[in-house]
Amino acid sequence: MGTEVSVYLWHEDPEAARLLVDAVFSEAERIDALMSTYKESSLISEINRHAAEAPVFAGNELFTLIQRALDISVLTRGAFDITYDSVGQHYDFHERKRPDPATVEKERALIDFRLVRLDRVAQTVFFAKPGVRINLGGIAKGYVVERGVDLLRNRGVKNAIVTAGGDSRLLGDRRGRPFMIGIRDPRIDGEVAMSVPLADEAVSTSGDYERFFDEDGIRYHHIIQPDTGAPADQVHSATVFGPDAVMTDALSTSVFVMGVDLGLRLIADLPDYESIVIDAQGRIFYSDGLQPPAAEREPAEAPE
Ligand code: ADP
Ligand code: MG
Repeated sequence: MGTEVSVYLWHEDPEAARLLVDAVFSEAERIDALMSTYKESSLISEINRHAAEAPVFAGNELFTLIQRALDISVLTRGAFDITYDSVGQHYDFHERKRPDPATVEKERALIDFRLVRLDRVAQTVFFAKPGVRINLGGIAKGYVVERGVDLLRNRGVKNAIVTAGGDSRLLGDRRGRPFMIGIRDPRIDGEVAMSVPLADEAVSTSGDYERFFDEDGIRYHHIIQPDTGAPADQVHSATVFGPDAVMTDALSTSVFVMGVDLGLRLIADLPDYESIVIDAQGRIFYSDGLQPPAAEREPAEAPE
């Protein structure tokens, strides 16, 4: 899926540890081969080629993830929408290539998750219009790290981090202390805006600084606002924490699209999930369940 996977774990036996790391990488490759739109041979590419002609069999694993993606579209009122790809396919961030306005106008009519019809019994996917495309780039990395951590947990590992792009799943803690997870400064390369102590949780960040190019003062990047077909421009980054990396991945993309107010309202309705958003002015916003760090609170009245 065009990203880097990393595994960090504690184990008594270095050789056993290396085999475990390899097992996570193999699992990531297996999922990539199934779900990457960069690969012509993947099942998702087959779906994109043929699902408007007739239902295409997706198999249990891919079917289930597509189903979850569509459920999240309902939850986010369409901010998260895997059919964004009818517009998204026209971007190439390495080549600084973007769709012209006429192409955006034409293709954005095909962004609508309701055009994806699932048959739960047959496990097939059908597109209700020609030209519809799906892309799991906003949820599949969360799935990769969730699967990676499951694999390590099942083999007895107690402390680990599996990361794919902006998505991490923590297993346990840093041997008695929390892991410190840095949230990148969206505008200063290599700088961390803040660090958050976390254990046994998933954390995902969506930002406009991963895949992008700037042209005439506009940043063209990889997260698409489904209703306009343009890159979402309300915030610079959205981070979501919670128990499940598939959810944090999709929710970070969703909060990025929805912006500070709607995004944090969505998170407020999900008791297990919290969020930190950095807006286009660089201001930091926290969901209700997170207290801002002491240094950022209003200074208390000095005692007389
Ligand atoms: P990253 O890829 O940096 O981890 P995200 O998790 O936010 O970041 O995923 C961004 C990816 O999500 C894009 O590269 C694209 O594949 C996909 N995407 C873009 N816009 C949307 C959207 N509105 N809904 C669902 N997926 C999207
Ligand atoms: Mg995401």
